[in-house]
Amino acid sequence: MTTQSRIAPAGEPRQTEGGLIFDIQGHSVHDGPGTRTTVFMSGCPLQCVWCCNPEGLFRHPVMMYRESKCKCCGDCIRACPHGAARVVDGKLTHDRSLCDDCETFDCVTACLNEASVTSGRYYTQDELMRILLRDQQYWGKHGGVTFSGGEPLLQRSFITAVLAECKRHGMHVGVETTSCLPTDYYLDVMRSVDWVFTDIKHMDPAVHHRLTGQDNTLLLTNIARLAALPDWDGVIMPRIPIIPGLNDGTENLLATVRFIKSIGLDAVNILPFHRLGESKYRQLGRRYAFVDQSPPPDEHMAALKSLVTAEGVICLVGWETPF
Ligand code: SF4
Ligand code: SF4
Repeated sequence: MTTQSRIAPAGEPRQTEGGLIFDIQGHSVHDGPGTRTTVFMSGCPLQCVWCCNPEGLFRHPVMMYRESKCKCCGDCIRACPHGAARVVDGKLTHDRSLCDDCETFDCVTACLNEASVTSGRYYTQDELMRILLRDQQYWGKHGGVTFSGGEPLLQRSFITAVLAECKRHGMHVGVETTSCLPTDYYLDVMRSVDWVFTDIKHMDPAVHHRLTGQDNTLLLTNIARLAALPDWDGVIMPRIPIIPGLNDGTENLLATVRFIKSIGLDAVNILPFHRLGESKYRQLGRRYAFVDQSPPPDEHMAALKSLVTAEGVICLVGWETPF
């Protein structure tokens, strides 16, 4: 099996061991109304070239190596049953074609310095609900839980069961989704969701495919169908990640805003590119293509906001929120 074959687009993560989650963050204030707990779920139907959560693309736990914590003791080299860890030019290196397929993670067990760690672990529904119920007391009147990723709706049986439990406990539920899911399932699962952040990365299907590995037909259809659902009263907040030189031209922005208006929505969130995921690419032994890319300047974001508002659509920039 190759590295690519176990990265998400081939299907959803294994279900037998519960839901695969690579992070849970409490006290989040950027992922929907109020104070929230954000659950990052593994696997994604897209592979955006700028993805800031590359560890979330895997359909299984994955080893990450943090060089700054390494004491060069060699314990992991001796522990690895596959010969994947070795020293080259005085530095510990890994054969990622072996590591990305690993299921034992003996190096992680052997490492006493938390330099070799795993990202992603399987939670049972009960384990996750215990965390959410513990946090519920801190959310206040307007907060709740947001499922992010990766694509949080990809692990169908797990997320469907968890969402039902969340609603049973009266939780406000948000999702940060690609909307790139089978339509019937997408519309059905959204009945348990109150708030939807959904990315629209490019309006040109061919460019969208080049940037993410999939064209945009399905996700645009799904967003439009959700917006037209007569008996669903959730909020849809489209998001456009602004990636300099890739999707930040006037033509694309206006096309996106006009699509949003055409389906009856009145607000959009534009998010400036950032490099916060850069170190995670190193830890996964993967190349990061945006090393020299700076975030768009504030003036550029302000100009884009003006374009959007001139179309009569509310424009939220970055983590600016309406709540
Ligand atoms: S992740 Fe697996 S294959 Fe890679 S060094 Fe660790 S034990 Fe070896
Ligand atoms: S066991 Fe940990 S500290 Fe020792 S060489 Fe391996 S990664 Fe570095």
